[in-house]
Amino acid sequence: MNFTTTYSDILQRIQDLDPIRYGETRNYLTGDVSYLSPYISRGVISTKMVLEAMLAKGFQLEEIESLAKELCWRDYFQRVAQVKDVQEDLKFPQYDVLHDEIPSNIVSAETGIEGIDQAIRDLYTHGYMHNHARMYAASVVCNVAKSRWKLPSKWMYYHLLDGDFASNACSWQWVAGSNSSKKYYANQENINRYMSTHQHGTYMDRSYDSFESMSVPKELSITQVTSFPVKLPSQSTFNVNTNLPTYLYTYYNMDPTWHQGIDSNRILLLEPSLFEQYPVSDKCLDFLLKLRENIPGIQVYVGSFDELVHEYGLSNCVFKEHPLTKHFQGISEPRDWICPEVTGYYPSFFAYWKHVKKQLTSNLHEA
Ligand SMILES: Cc1cc2nc3c(=O)[nH]c(=O)nc-3n(C[C@H](O)[C@H](O)[C@H](O)COP(=O)(O)OP(=O)(O)OC[C@H]3O[C@@H](n4cnc5c(N)ncnc54)[C@H](O)[C@@H]3O)c2cc1C
Repeated sequence: MNFTTTYSDILQRIQDLDPIRYGETRNYLTGDVSYLSPYISRGVISTKMVLEAMLAKGFQLEEIESLAKELCWRDYFQRVAQVKDVQEDLKFPQYDVLHDEIPSNIVSAETGIEGIDQAIRDLYTHGYMHNHARMYAASVVCNVAKSRWKLPSKWMYYHLLDGDFASNACSWQWVAGSNSSKKYYANQENINRYMSTHQHGTYMDRSYDSFESMSVPKELSITQVTSFPVKLPSQSTFNVNTNLPTYLYTYYNMDPTWHQGIDSNRILLLEPSLFEQYPVSDKCLDFLLKLRENIPGIQVYVGSFDELVHEYGLSNCVFKEHPLTKHFQGISEPRDWICPEVTGYYPSFFAYWKHVKKQLTSNLHEA
């Protein structure tokens, strides 16, 4: 698992994606998943770019529906976060919660469930976890150890190169039953199947109907509160020309093609308040700072939006719309959506997907 930060390599990774194999194998830990999420989450590429690249290769929407749907899950969660506070229980209060902490054996990767422990060690090493491993880990934490989802989701976000405030919170809530009609469980047989492990006799080796009534296993009973230190870079020399337009990049927008070639100030704004609310590890910050190399002339400013504009007398900064930058003033530009026509809140992904698919199909027929 190697996450290059060179733009041409990232584009090559899109070209190398086999959407048919993806659909057949994506649920397995060793399946042909794209590993594109760190680039999508950091705004280097968009879901739309990935889908368009597959269609340009001659695939029909129907045959790559599995990939298209997953890309749309991401857009869907972004739409939810435009209108809802994803940091609060979205549909129902999470029920059967014992505490607001995280099991210590999750943090130390010693749950006793081999596949999950390996996935946590990989998360610490590579900053990535397969979707099924995320679901299994979240289910063990929220539904077996009965933790509230908030602190554990923060723990996972902290370590993920693809940490995304919307996908993360909405997915944890989906597993914990506060963003879905029931809690998600996977038993040992399911875990063995998709993670290629062969464990038996664990606390997860049970029938599905016994999960709700099980008590917290001793392996998960010790819990802790974890701190998430963030080391933002120190401010280096900084120059702006107030006669030029200013493009603001953030933790969620590192698009090298954005207004490319225009003489301008390009500033990566790292707001301490954002990282206090959504802390990230050194590995995530290193990844972000390396992505900067794809954007010529970009400078880093550590401080708030207000401090930046007042200190340097900037007006009419240009930025991409995002729920976490609602306090920015200036020219807000839309993000790239697979289906910009489908906006607003849909209570279920499938209602959203139905509209997106209809619109996409009609767009493709017209093209
Ligand atoms: C508990 C939990 C926490 C999660 N936290 C995050 C997070 O912080 N950031 C994040 O980007 N994703 C998150 N996801 C969603 C998903 O796990 C990752 O997007 C996916 O595993 C990324 O790997 P990939 O690029 O190889 O995915 P692929 O399977 O190759 O999918 C291609 C793209 O589709 C999108 N996608 C795929 N699956 C999902 C999904 N279930 N939900 C939303 N988008 C999806 C992603 O943009 C991904 O890059 C979380 C899922 C769970 C269950």
